[in-house]
Amino acid sequence: MGGTLSILSYDARMLTRRAFLHTAVTGGVAAAATGRSSSAAEFDLVVKGGRVIDPSRRFDAVADVGITGGRIAAVRPSIPASAAAEVLDASGALVTPGLIDVHTHVRSAEMPSICLSQGVTSLVDAGSRGADQIDSVVAFAKQAPNRVRVLVNLSRAGVIDEGDLMDLSRADVALARDAILRHRDVVIGVKARLSRNVAGEQDLEALRRAQAITRPLGLPVMIHVGQTFSTIPQLLALLKPGDIVTHMYAFPPNTIFDGKGGVLPEVMAARRRGIRFDVGNGRIGHFTWDTMADGVKAGFLPDTISSDWTDAGRAEHVVDFPNVLSKLLMLGVPLPQVVAMATSNAAAMFPAFKGLGTLRVGAPADVTVLELRQGSFEFIDNVGGKRTGRQRLFPRASVMGGKRVS
Ligand SMILES: [Zn+2]
Repeated sequence: MGGTLSILSYDARMLTRRAFLHTAVTGGVAAAATGRSSSAAEFDLVVKGGRVIDPSRRFDAVADVGITGGRIAAVRPSIPASAAAEVLDASGALVTPGLIDVHTHVRSAEMPSICLSQGVTSLVDAGSRGADQIDSVVAFAKQAPNRVRVLVNLSRAGVIDEGDLMDLSRADVALARDAILRHRDVVIGVKARLSRNVAGEQDLEALRRAQAITRPLGLPVMIHVGQTFSTIPQLLALLKPGDIVTHMYAFPPNTIFDGKGGVLPEVMAARRRGIRFDVGNGRIGHFTWDTMADGVKAGFLPDTISSDWTDAGRAEHVVDFPNVLSKLLMLGVPLPQVVAMATSNAAAMFPAFKGLGTLRVGAPADVTVLELRQGSFEFIDNVGGKRTGRQRLFPRASVMGGKRVS
């Protein structure tokens, strides 16, 4: 067994005991016994030669990432290719924890795979369905190749054209609670869309009902703001720590801004008591270049970036998650901070994502390889405004649970 120990690296010894034993059995011992065959490799997969950006550890350097048994086994300056059963060449590219998109819409069985091919290893369906149709979105989640979790819409009817909450009898607390309890493994909170064209003048009462569902269960509410009837401070007053405001840079009426270049004191106070703020790119009503730039200039950065992905958004506006991330880069947010918004910060948003969003040894091996291309790239806001940036992130490869999947 002495030979086994010499093969196992220091990094591998930091694995959890279960992963360690897996390494010893499938990697170390086999290597000692059979030498060079590919099954004898120390690592199942090595992501080689990329710039590794792991904000969870404040790590930013060119390095190799070794993966064994579906978990991160080592991050080192260099791992020889001979130690790998399979090598994923990431030279010239960025290597990050698997991207997490906390606000998307899963309306087809194919959608999660499309997002996975765009580097998204975990995503949240934010209220596409209410209690009446929760089983359908849960079914999509369960057959997805990546990790899909769901927020149930406060309205039993889900997202509907006439406005989810125009008829407030649809905000049925008992039905929503039942939907969560039937799917605790997948449904991780409640989504309430509160814009005036969705909830009329009843946004505060709707939010009270969302809290009646989530408080006893200790789950978050994600509120969709922008052009609400009530002011943002009135809505924030009804949120509890861990709740999420999506479309944080929505334009008037009713914004997070104080009209003097800053952010309202109630908004700052909400962040201090643990309310999270998310971008939610989408297509209509959610941000303009001016509001997003004002937020960045005021130092009120997002906790998370999200795409608000839909089929329509894929064709324009959103395109893919790396494209949305690139918009913050264009506005001057440093790359590691942008990566944090799509990895470590996003993982911290939901207890269901605990342990994700990191390349720490022992973590699930979800890894995204991105290219940061230089050039001239056009980006669009929600009112058709176009801006040209000098760099854009593109997806190159995704690793899910230690397996290369795109
Ligand atoms: Zn949405």
